[in-house]
Amino acid sequence: MRFVSTRDPGESATLAAALQRGLAPDGGLYVPERFPRLVGADFGTAVTLPALAPTFLAPFFATDVLAAELPAIVAEAFDFPVPIVPLAGGDDVSVLELFHGPTAAFKDFGARFLAACVTRLQRDRQRPLTILVATSGDTGGAVAAAFHGRPGIEVVVLFPRGLVSPRQELQLTCWGGNVRSLSVAGTFDDCQRLVKAAFADRALAARRDLSSANSINVGRLLPQACYYVYASLAGWRRTGRPVSFIVPSGNLGNVLAAVWARHIGLPIGELVLTFNANRTVPDYLASGEWRPRPSVATIASAMDVGNPSNMERLRHLHPDWHDLKAAVTAVGVDDDAIRDRIRIDRVRFGQTWCPHTATAAEAYARFEPARRAAGPWVLAATAHPAKFPEIVEPLIGQPVPVPPALARLLERPRQVTEIPASLGALVAALP
Ligand SMILES: *Cc1c(COP(=O)(O)O)cnc(C)c1O
Repeated sequence: MRFVSTRDPGESATLAAALQRGLAPDGGLYVPERFPRLVGADFGTAVTLPALAPTFLAPFFATDVLAAELPAIVAEAFDFPVPIVPLAGGDDVSVLELFHGPTAAFKDFGARFLAACVTRLQRDRQRPLTILVATSGDTGGAVAAAFHGRPGIEVVVLFPRGLVSPRQELQLTCWGGNVRSLSVAGTFDDCQRLVKAAFADRALAARRDLSSANSINVGRLLPQACYYVYASLAGWRRTGRPVSFIVPSGNLGNVLAAVWARHIGLPIGELVLTFNANRTVPDYLASGEWRPRPSVATIASAMDVGNPSNMERLRHLHPDWHDLKAAVTAVGVDDDAIRDRIRIDRVRFGQTWCPHTATAAEAYARFEPARRAAGPWVLAATAHPAKFPEIVEPLIGQPVPVPPALARLLERPRQVTEIPASLGALVAALP
């Protein structure tokens, strides 16, 4: 399968090239040239995510140099559990726990899959590859963990100083070796702008091979679609009904994977996107006017995005605003409502939400009873609450136990370089 730019269908690339480039040369984002058609029956009796993923991914990998490696890539990347945990209370609602990977957030799926692909593509190349990644908190840690120690690959992580949680910062700065962490005096949008500027800099591109591991990379979206395949088939086989998802959203990479899975034919019903106080998308769906704006800081910081990159892919699939409004709905949840929801659901369901996941739980709680009953509903739990103890623990009145893999990372020494938000400073800080 070939992938084309959202800005020009004539600008096409193989999967391998799209993975390595991240962004298309014309500044657009890669999307599949055409979507395959897959329905429930195509997956036979496979049940687990690693068993289902090769069937879903095969059409995208067909004819690519990586095609023969797909089974090994899937086995290597998806080597942690993905529980679907029912919530008590009568309605059919469960939690898709996407936080059991090495850095305890859903970003591990995309990062580990991309690393497995890129490492194989890099094997025969002479020049090292430099991966630039801007992070609002979780991406950078996941990418650093996935690429740490891989030969021929350097990783440079940019994060907004003071705007990620202390534990996220530890995960961003605990690596060393082939991973360089840059603490940028600016916001996530500044970090993203710097990465885009680096790609546009011809002199830099002549000196080194650059790639991006942000959620703009199609190599992160495809693996994310696999857990929607897994969870939708599980609910559909159990009930005979399509499964609706509520997805905490920022740059829209997570939910775009669900939109694609549904478009391809998986039994997915409603897709509800939840946001924090960064309301660019809810306002757009309400008004029809696309007004990106600077991000504002919230306690769900990995969703602090004012100009979500993947909107370009969403609008590529649904260019008409009315059509887009029919495809997805959006709910904005402010910090006070996030805090209340963490407190309430701890008591009501015995569940501890991270601040991001709490936006999904809050949207669900706001539904009319009839809509809640029209499940199955699945809340995407995007991070483990132990990543945000300073927010969560005062609300639930007790410590959140730290998963062992996360505890090991938090003990490593810190290595970080502080830079101003300028391209010159970024270039000077490259290895
Ligand atoms: C990245 C992230 C999000 C937002 O996901 P997008 O793909 O950017 O929409 C939500 N929650 C957590 C915990 C995240 O790390």
